[in-house]
Amino acid sequence: MHNFDFHNPTRILFGDGQIERIGKLVPSEARVLVLYGGGSIRANGTFDAVMAALAGRTVFEFGGIEPNPTVETLSEAIALVRRERVDFLLAVGGGSVIDGTKFVAAGALLDADPWTILEQHAKNVRAALPIGVVLTLPATGSEMNAAAVITRKRTQEKFAFVSRTVYPQFAVLDPTRTYTLPARQVGNGVVDAFVHVMEQYMTVPAQAKVQDRFAEGLLLTLVEDGPRALAAPENYDVRANLMWTATLALNGLIGTGVPQDWSTHTIGHELTALYGLDHAQTLAIVLPSMLRVRRAAKREKLLQYAARVWDLRTGDEDARIEAAIGRTEDFFRAMGVGTKLSDYGLGRDAIPAVIAALEAHGMTRMGETGEVTLDVARAALEGAA
Ligand code: NAP
Ligand code: FE
Repeated sequence: MHNFDFHNPTRILFGDGQIERIGKLVPSEARVLVLYGGGSIRANGTFDAVMAALAGRTVFEFGGIEPNPTVETLSEAIALVRRERVDFLLAVGGGSVIDGTKFVAAGALLDADPWTILEQHAKNVRAALPIGVVLTLPATGSEMNAAAVITRKRTQEKFAFVSRTVYPQFAVLDPTRTYTLPARQVGNGVVDAFVHVMEQYMTVPAQAKVQDRFAEGLLLTLVEDGPRALAAPENYDVRANLMWTATLALNGLIGTGVPQDWSTHTIGHELTALYGLDHAQTLAIVLPSMLRVRRAAKREKLLQYAARVWDLRTGDEDARIEAAIGRTEDFFRAMGVGTKLSDYGLGRDAIPAVIAALEAHGMTRMGETGEVTLDVARAALEGAA
């Protein structure tokens, strides 16, 4: 196990009815901006519940944050924050709204073009406004981490930044708020959380037994409860388990002291930036094929994964590995997320632009050992054609 320094400051309020408690956590004198997406929270009553909890405060609102949030939209929110002297941000939504809120929180205090946060990997971020979260889509873990992924539409670029300043102070996780999710977003969320675990678990071995077993527990829960959420959208226990799993998949816990890969995410971001695919769709395309391409480097972990997650314990080792990757693909498809470029109308001719974008962005040595070169990335994409 590698050395590590772990501190996650986000307070979690979990369960039915917890939105009310925001009233105690947001300072009573705060000038609050409620940020949200395209309107699902207005249609399903979450917006009203949040407003009721904030009663008595000066509240502004900023709606219209799109999936894969853009600097173009978020700059308007930064202007509103400055104009109205907002001093607390409340994100109500999924990963896009939370990530966008983190960008606004840092960008509003920055004396420069906010896009420089992405260009400088947040090295120019010294402070951010305080953030609270009401999560409506279990997927990204953004509600309890320090990362955000932001798109610049004009240049078709999608980059992540990480800054301790943007950890949410608190996050409300009320499973009943996820009942209205469309099946596509349930599937996307389960696949994203699954791949977050894999990026931290499916690496060269690090003798980190607890992290491995936490990770396997999260994967098993997603495999068990993901399909149940599609079949019975209002099953509270299923939604509760999925919600907490997605948060734990990327709140730093399972990533402590272990090597991390993230090549699937990095390649996926280029696919979204260029072709507009949902984040999880890109991951379902890249991950299984990447595992096949890198099966030699990841052999020991793939065998462990086959045994402990898919109960494949006997027979030829190579056949076990291939079966485990096949089960992974079947699972993604059962969640309604296609695993081939062709599922999204893309052919092999879509690949060169992805490789060129990775090169232009300096992403030429990805993965836990830096061995995911552009050739490896190309092979993974061709395997998914
Ligand atoms: P999302 O883009 O936040 O939301 C997708 C859709 O789900 C939206 O159209 C939204 O509608 C709808 N929705 C959300 N909650 C709903 C509910 N309760 N009922 C009905 N509809 C609902 O999806 P996401 O997967 O959570 O976030 C994806 C983004 O996060 C990507 O940009 C990805 O790159 C990023 N990401 C970040 C991290 C991180 O660590 N920060 C990790 C992985 C991915 P409305 O807009 O109408 O609300
Ligand atoms: Fe992700």
